[in-house]
Amino acid sequence: TCGICVEKCPFDAIEIINLPQELDDEPVHRYGENAFSLYGLPVPLEGQVTGILGPNGIGKTTAVRILAGELAPNLGQHGDPPGWDAVLDAYRGTELQDYLSDVRDGEVSVARKPQYVDKIPDQFDGSTEQLLENVDERGVLDDLLERLDIEHVREQDIDSLSGGELQRVALVACLARDVDFYFIDEITPYLDISQRVKAARLIQEMAEEHGKSMLVVEHDLAILDLVADNLHVAYGEPGAYGVITDPKSVRNGINEYLKGYLQNENMRIRPNAIEFEEHAPRQVSRADTLVEYPDVSKSYGEGEFGLDVEGGTIRENEVLGIVGPNGIGKSTFAELLAGRLDPDEGELGFELDIAYKPQYIEIDQPMQVEAFLRSITDKVGSSYWNTEIGQPLQLDRIMEQNLLDLSGGERQRVAIAATLSESADLYLLDEPSAYLDVEQRVRATNAIRRFAEQQDATVMVIDHDIYMIDLLADRLMVFDGEPAVQGRASEPKGMREGMNDFLANLDITFRRDENVGRPRINKPGSQLDKEQKKSGEYYYAP
Ligand code: ADP
Ligand code: ADP
Repeated sequence: TCGICVEKCPFDAIEIINLPQELDDEPVHRYGENAFSLYGLPVPLEGQVTGILGPNGIGKTTAVRILAGELAPNLGQHGDPPGWDAVLDAYRGTELQDYLSDVRDGEVSVARKPQYVDKIPDQFDGSTEQLLENVDERGVLDDLLERLDIEHVREQDIDSLSGGELQRVALVACLARDVDFYFIDEITPYLDISQRVKAARLIQEMAEEHGKSMLVVEHDLAILDLVADNLHVAYGEPGAYGVITDPKSVRNGINEYLKGYLQNENMRIRPNAIEFEEHAPRQVSRADTLVEYPDVSKSYGEGEFGLDVEGGTIRENEVLGIVGPNGIGKSTFAELLAGRLDPDEGELGFELDIAYKPQYIEIDQPMQVEAFLRSITDKVGSSYWNTEIGQPLQLDRIMEQNLLDLSGGERQRVAIAATLSESADLYLLDEPSAYLDVEQRVRATNAIRRFAEQQDATVMVIDHDIYMIDLLADRLMVFDGEPAVQGRASEPKGMREGMNDFLANLDITFRRDENVGRPRINKPGSQLDKEQKKSGEYYYAP
């Protein structure tokens, strides 16, 4: 074993390689004897968006607490903390010197967007308006609400908002403050792509037009690439120690991260590279048909949301990617397939048994993870289940924990495991990427693909992380129309046609990084953007 994985390598690494070891240098902070240690700090820069890319539990929050002046770093001397002057000495001559001396003098003010927005309703009673009017120090509330399309939730109680609405309200609450340093811990969970791009644009404007220091943690790499001006990679062993590298260019930082090797640090952080196909995969259609369905349509009532579905075929053992904005009828389509809704026009004539992981996970019983999973399948603990589900989703360490104590990423992994443990005709996963870090997204992707192949299962995955969809899907089903009004679902298509349709709706094109073939969002109106739109190639090289 290589140390990352417990038994079998999900990356199929042939070679066992050296993994990061805790550094010999002095840490910035150590919480105690044998407790978590942090090495290195991100450097907030005025007028810049600084990104951090790395796993959860690697010390990002610790670093921000230091930069916010809430935690005086102890330089590893937890028994006898040396105080701010010693810290300043240690950072003399570095880019952080001026910033840290402002922190020491209490001159840095900070606003934060927390990672887990689902917790906001537990902490706040009242309407969106009440939450936001206290923080509108810049007098920009109307503008921000409008640009993130959430004016309609102003009067609503916070506990009635959907996750996607909460995410945007939380971002507004952070950006409306008038401070020096803004920390945004994940932009994207529960947002669709156009909402992600709009949020990224607002964050960039804070830096470009208002000269603020923006620090962003983000695991959707296409969005991180778009939003950040420079990037720190974080690596180490979650829970034990974390290292934050010196800043890199965003392009290099992401490329090195995907390759699994950090050049300046001479550090391998993963056995294998994560690679994308530059050309659309050829369509293979050996697989048997799971179901064939005709055109159907469904509306929830006079003047309410309506969906038109183009007839198509779903195959056995494929992973079908489902893309499209929020509120466009993706869940409605699933309800139709399951026979829980009857179409107004057209007839389905089957009722598929669907194992479903919803976008907003509700597993809130006071129950141990293991007991919960055993209530779904008696295979928990079998070698098949351990190898194919437990290990890739890194459940071993949390099996004894209570469901109520899990972090967002842990709940997500338990919910994916629970869904794949059911026996069903069709597995539908809605936004499995939410709250997973990049490494966990890759592991989950591999687990889902293997599951489909080995169990002859059909898996449909709704996700807004374009990299994850690219790595996961064999074919795509594209939803478009007007959210909350009228949706249209295409038949399942090949990746190239599907990506082109989907991205044409969004008016976004991707180019390829020359080095690693990674898709990167083109600047709107750039030469490449125009050329690709003209030739109709939004994603893959022709
Ligand atoms: P991230 O934000 O990257 O998820 P954190 O900075 O929150 O990581 O935490 C890094 C590690 O430090 C975790 O293992 C966490 O349990 C540990 N940690 C955080 N705060 C404390 C503390 N006050 N005392 C001891 N350990 C802590
Ligand atoms: P998606 O899964 O793409 O986010 P949904 O299928 O959940 O979209 O919802 C599409 C639209 O239908 C939304 O505007 C939603 O509010 C509305 N909707 C969903 N269920 C019902 C229902 N039972 N009655 C009325 N409207 C509904």
